[in-house]
Amino acid sequence: MSTLPSKEHIEKAVGQIQFDTDAFIDGKFVKAVSGKTFATENPATGRELAQVAECDAADVEIAVAAAKRAFEAGVWSDLPPSERKEIMLKFCDLMEEHEMELGLLDCLEAGKPVADCLQIDAPETIACIRWHAEAADKLYDHISPTGSENLGLITREPVGVVGAVIPWNFPAQMAAWKIGPILATGNSLILKPAEQTSLSALLMARLASEAGVPDGVFNVVTGFGETTGKALGLHMDVDMVAFTGSTEVGRYFLQYAAESNLKRIILECGGKSPQIVLADADLDNAAENAVSAAFWNMGENCSCGSRLIVEKGVKDALLEKITAELKAWPTGDPLDPGNPLGSMIEKGHMEKVLSYIETGKSEGANLLLGGNRILTETGGYFVEPTIFDGVTNQMKIAQEEIFGPVLSVIEVENEQEAIAVANDTPYGLAASVYTASLDSAHRIARKLRAGNVSVNCFAEGDMGTPFGGYKQSGFSGRDKSIFAHEQYTEMKTTWISLGK
Ligand code: NAP
Ligand code: MG
Repeated sequence: MSTLPSKEHIEKAVGQIQFDTDAFIDGKFVKAVSGKTFATENPATGRELAQVAECDAADVEIAVAAAKRAFEAGVWSDLPPSERKEIMLKFCDLMEEHEMELGLLDCLEAGKPVADCLQIDAPETIACIRWHAEAADKLYDHISPTGSENLGLITREPVGVVGAVIPWNFPAQMAAWKIGPILATGNSLILKPAEQTSLSALLMARLASEAGVPDGVFNVVTGFGETTGKALGLHMDVDMVAFTGSTEVGRYFLQYAAESNLKRIILECGGKSPQIVLADADLDNAAENAVSAAFWNMGENCSCGSRLIVEKGVKDALLEKITAELKAWPTGDPLDPGNPLGSMIEKGHMEKVLSYIETGKSEGANLLLGGNRILTETGGYFVEPTIFDGVTNQMKIAQEEIFGPVLSVIEVENEQEAIAVANDTPYGLAASVYTASLDSAHRIARKLRAGNVSVNCFAEGDMGTPFGGYKQSGFSGRDKSIFAHEQYTEMKTTWISLGK
């Protein structure tokens, strides 16, 4: 959306939304077998938005059977890739028609700033699925280099029934990162959104079906991780699970796979990403990017640049610029396009973030800015941007993923120490380096144990670049780009004797 609508326009549009709240299985909306529902709330007001179907193992059973049936019937998996592409592009066109609604659902359920939802989340969701759709009919298989008596075909085939279990921080986008490549390569999908954010996934399933994605190919089971997510992880007919979420829960999926059918598992997990600022850096640029890295999406971002590692001599000047820059980042009603920061996802998570802030104080870090819950009169769960100076990398606030608006500032002597501190974490998702020296930039980028390194910016690349983590930030795969596309396929060798 190139120009943002006014707050009045947005509020009117919100009033007109009709939520889809049932699970989407085998081409239709259905209640949970148990008849149970659970509340989804607006974390910016603390009020209930809707009751959503609470699926469990019984619903997963039905969804998996439908997905398997569709896969085996070949209604999607056997379609020429160009036909899958056309249907997916139609799905994207329908999402474009509903772009405002798609963005608003994430704003309402996750407390995300509406400007981000309408200008980043919704358009990038559509662009992602379009990218993978367009790739569908542009990939060639291989023939092995054999003698004239044989033919060795190396072909890619869809894996089968793929479960996608996703988090709440970028609900539609995280769904799209899975939906795009899973559907483009011909698989059947069962998507389990985070329990806090089911609505945009349900809208997407309805639109995909309207566009012509056959019944059973794109299912959404709403519900809790411990029941619905676990049932997918343990199911013998689920061939693969692509997970995005915390490292803690990601581990369970490796266990589920080991205990069941050795299903393929891809994990995109948490991070504690460093932002290295060398003394020769453009400090205005570093400050602007460091604020965005640390506080964008209220720090509820897997690649959140939560550790600012600053070379001696420039720390005070940098912090002054960061504090000034933050004035342009007010926290408030997420439906107001003038607020770049909204609420935390839920009360429990806000309390966790506040308890990390207490830990930072008791560990002896110097609270430079923020530190409090704010806007309590709204009933919402808002935490102000918080900066700790004088942090050492051993402190809990420097080691653990807080997933909130809390920046830890660590001073280092030189480039070598910056690299050592940056890598001294169990995570390895993203990192940034700010320097005027091309040599330092390349040297540091090479040494950083992280899947995504940005130089003189905070960025995650574009749709053409893979995204994922080293160490405990991920396992066995990447989102986005052609590499994500490929990982939802199996490789087959067909050896043909051509006779004598
Ligand atoms: P989470 O608690 O790990 O949940 C992720 C998903 O797993 C949710 O759908 C959740 O369902 C489900 N789940 C929870 N417990 C489960 C269990 N025992 N068995 C099976 N499934 C289970 O993560 P979150 O709080 O939603 O999201 C925040 C995390 O996501 C952060 O760590 C962040 O870094 C990570 N993240 C990573 C990336 C990346 O690309 N690397 C991107 C975004 C976010 P419920 O909602 O019902 O609990
Ligand atoms: Mg959760």
